[in-house]
Amino acid sequence: MKVFGWQKEETFYTENTPAQTGPPDPKNARDPLFSARGLTKVYLAGEVEVRALDGVDFDLYPGEFIVLLGPSGSGKSTLLNNLGGLDVPTSGTLAYKDRELTGADEEELTAFRRDAVGFVFQFYNLIPSLTALENVALITEIAKDPMTPEEALGLVGLRERMDHFPSQMSGGEQQRVAIARAISKRPEVLLCDEPTGALDVKTGITVLEAIERVNRELGTLALVITHNAVIADMADRVIHLSDGRISRIERNGARRSVRSLRW
Ligand code: ADP
Repeated sequence: MKVFGWQKEETFYTENTPAQTGPPDPKNARDPLFSARGLTKVYLAGEVEVRALDGVDFDLYPGEFIVLLGPSGSGKSTLLNNLGGLDVPTSGTLAYKDRELTGADEEELTAFRRDAVGFVFQFYNLIPSLTALENVALITEIAKDPMTPEEALGLVGLRERMDHFPSQMSGGEQQRVAIARAISKRPEVLLCDEPTGALDVKTGITVLEAIERVNRELGTLALVITHNAVIADMADRVIHLSDGRISRIERNGARRSVRSLRW
């Protein structure tokens, strides 16, 4: 039998007995962080309409690890950009907690992005003339309730490399600095668009471990876009996208640690 307790006021769950595996069914525990209904995004490419998202419905819960899987062009980035307030849907609804993002104006979306969302992209977008610490401090200096840059870099295993410049770091290390920067403001949501896309397997694993640790230790809802089906095993749930639609949502019985993944 599985019994899960929730740490009070925290968004992550803990297991109460050693025999349990896998996450709780979050539906029993918490209200969703995001709710999408009939979410649709249509782009106009000349005369042609592209339905990048074609009426998707889902709920995402606090502290979940979600993998978004699908072929190129299936709408993954469009979905991530809508969740992060970087883009707005054409129709349908998208709520974050009790706020409706669909009708939000630019000022509200900016506040939402600033306070609630951390982004990690395939290319790290670090400022080359600043050290790792200074790159993270750019965010912590303006955030409401940030951790220190040292704490953030410690979480991704880079405390010893704080004074290095991006050019002195490997791709994986630079991506971990980007993750530290994204989570230093303690966002409730971490959105990662192909975070390992530019990395070899071994380095990719260190990056996924950093995301996994943030998700487990801070209880951040993590959503990771990938082409790589193996990565799906580390998720609580896998959302499969195909032609702008959700073809299925799978729940992993037991979430696998990144270390145990092979591809
Ligand atoms: P994925 O991330 O799965 O590769 P995208 O969300 O980037 O897919 O794209 C989904 C579809 O929407 C594709 O057909 C893509 O060409 C189209 N698309 C994405 N952004 C735009 C845009 N700004 N203008 C026109 N078409 C777009």
